[in-house]
Amino acid sequence: MRDTINVKNPATGETVKEVSVTSSSHIKKAIEQGNEAFKTWSKVNAHQRSALLKEWSAKIKSETEYLAEVMTLESGKPLKESRGEVAYAASYIDWYAEEAKRVYGRTIPSHTESKRIIVTKEPVGLVAAITPWNFPAAMMTRKAAPALAVGCTFIVKPAEETPLTTMKLVSLAHEAGIPEDVVQCVNGYGEDIGPIFTDSPLVRKITFTGSTPVGKLLMKNSAATMKHVSMELGGHAPLIVAKDADIDFAVNQVLASKFRNAGQTCICANRVLVHEDIAKVFSEQLISRVAQLNVGNGLDESTDVGPVINAAGYEKIDSQIEDAVGKGARVLYGHQYDKDEEKGYYFVHPTVLENVGEEMDIMQEETFGPVIPLSTFRENDQAVEIANNTPFGLAAYFFTNDYRNGIYFQEHLKFGILGWNDGAPSAAHAPFGGMKESGIGREGGPEGIEPYVETKYLSIGGIQ
Ligand code: ADP
Repeated sequence: MRDTINVKNPATGETVKEVSVTSSSHIKKAIEQGNEAFKTWSKVNAHQRSALLKEWSAKIKSETEYLAEVMTLESGKPLKESRGEVAYAASYIDWYAEEAKRVYGRTIPSHTESKRIIVTKEPVGLVAAITPWNFPAAMMTRKAAPALAVGCTFIVKPAEETPLTTMKLVSLAHEAGIPEDVVQCVNGYGEDIGPIFTDSPLVRKITFTGSTPVGKLLMKNSAATMKHVSMELGGHAPLIVAKDADIDFAVNQVLASKFRNAGQTCICANRVLVHEDIAKVFSEQLISRVAQLNVGNGLDESTDVGPVINAAGYEKIDSQIEDAVGKGARVLYGHQYDKDEEKGYYFVHPTVLENVGEEMDIMQEETFGPVIPLSTFRENDQAVEIANNTPFGLAAYFFTNDYRNGIYFQEHLKFGILGWNDGAPSAAHAPFGGMKESGIGREGGPEGIEPYVETKYLSIGGIQ
């Protein structure tokens, strides 16, 4: 195992901090401690757990500026987005602090006078979380908050690119009074730590946000000890603009969906399908708005689009654009890079491609970059067929003011999250998650509690 992680600023390539890798013996010890702490934490009453979560959220909000700056330094996202993510991360804790008090059971009318049937919910046990670099705060809290709320203990391994935000969140949890063994952070490389989590029978649940191949591996490795799993994996969101859509509004929403975090979110609009009658007007308006976006260091308040995370991210984007252009796509805007391979920073300028077809990689693979491929359709069923032609099923968007179109899309798109005239559908009180190879389970809302509880059924007999 490597000893350190060199956390780099994606905007400059400079080292932000060296972070020690947690040794495998320490990780195993953390698992034992988490398992031991479960015995007491699961017995703490729900109102007290709720109060501790609220205190944690308050501490996070009071440290917004510090957290946002750290997040921007390690992830590259613009400061205004980092501030937004801190608020978003805290909103999960606020929501689940309330939900902690509402983990209800059931009584079931019995089939005989001599029996009573009672159903209770119990925390699953120690939870191990593996989180990605693109939302280093929110992906942690939307797992930790429901886990802690119901009485689970929690160990998180943040992405090696962005451990600093998560480490600060965990230390704020301790300052808030949540015991140290109840929420722990271990650092290291995924391929080293993943097997330690999955091999341990003490870890009862793995919750993961990241790429589909790693999610599949974790699921497979969790089978030996039959762990619970929640998987929030890749996406390849289609965005359909119907003939009757409000074009100006749709363009605004495409911008909001596509360029957040430089296109590096799993629900970014990746395939924009526009009705052929409005395609020209739409692309003209889109380009005029894209041209106004500022590309730069996220620490600069005027930046709209920061760097992409690393060389691998840049290379994937570049190869998708090259592939599309090689197969007949036209560059309407962008296709420009500011990069320094030696220093290690990569800025991809917002890019719009038209005449994009399904045979191109960009229509088949998740993009994770600020590139909009435009394609056209004539009939709704054609748009839906293209949209559903992917192994992913996370988010999809459609823009129409005709309720018949809207209902058609709602009923036929095979995605877990739909935005109808809405390019930003995420909220702590709503179930986020995907179908097909985009994952299993939901995060947020009451559905987000379910993956952290077991159902226990009690049948009492012999009643006179
Ligand atoms: P990305 O390619 O966007 O970095 P990954 O799925 O590789 O997405 O990374 C998301 C998280 O998964 C990170 O915390 C990373 O360390 C972790 N990870 C990567 N490979 C593995 C693995 N083999 N086992 C467990 N976790 C892994």
